[in-house]
Amino acid sequence: MNISIAIDGPSGAGKSTLARSMAQKLGYLYVDTGAIYRTIGYHAFASHIDPRDEAAVAASLPALQVELAYGEDGLQHMLLNGRDVTKEIRLPEISMYASAVSAHPSVRAYLLEMQRELARTHNVIMDGRDIGTVVLPDAEVKVFLTASPEARARRRMLELEQRGTPEPFEKVLREIRERDWNDSHRAAAPLRQAEDAVLLDTTELDFQESEAALLEIVRRRTGR
Ligand code: C5P
Repeated sequence: MNISIAIDGPSGAGKSTLARSMAQKLGYLYVDTGAIYRTIGYHAFASHIDPRDEAAVAASLPALQVELAYGEDGLQHMLLNGRDVTKEIRLPEISMYASAVSAHPSVRAYLLEMQRELARTHNVIMDGRDIGTVVLPDAEVKVFLTASPEARARRRMLELEQRGTPEPFEKVLREIRERDWNDSHRAAAPLRQAEDAVLLDTTELDFQESEAALLEIVRRRTGR
């Protein structure tokens, strides 16, 4: 039987960096579900669809082909109607589009089976907002990864700088708070800690310490 590790938490908590590295160590498939929502958000952006207009977003879904592909680099690439949009979905403006489209139940329903299928067919580390609560409620390991908004904004700022798209701290912090609020107050699959998830707060931890703490949680739960 395949094992699933679900990592949920707010943006900037370090989910993707940690999950990717853990997946490599354990030989699991890493699934970044935020990238899938970002792909739908990017589609709305590129097609001039108001991402808050559920009817318009839902109407665009049947014609969409959203696929994950794993390159030779081992990284997850997102394909939208056959085109690799991995770079585009990381543009700063796409974060808000992703957050807006992800609030629609039709979008969540459209992506649910795709995520579950990946977990049925692979050992996965899947990160997102509702993996432990909705997508994989029976996951063997559930972690709720968080950090203070300020710590998350600082990390996000560094990441944006490295990508060559720097933004001021105040703006990054404001957007983080806004996305936190949107993600945890929406009616459909809001961000919350699953009852059986282990809380890991990385505010005071660096990458190595966070990774060690996460590995320890996985070992305790799976015996691996
Ligand atoms: O993780 P990332 O910040 O890339 O996700 C982008 C947006 O997609 C989040 O702000 C959130 O609104 C949405 N999302 C979601 N459910 C997931 C993963 C991401 O609603 N499982």
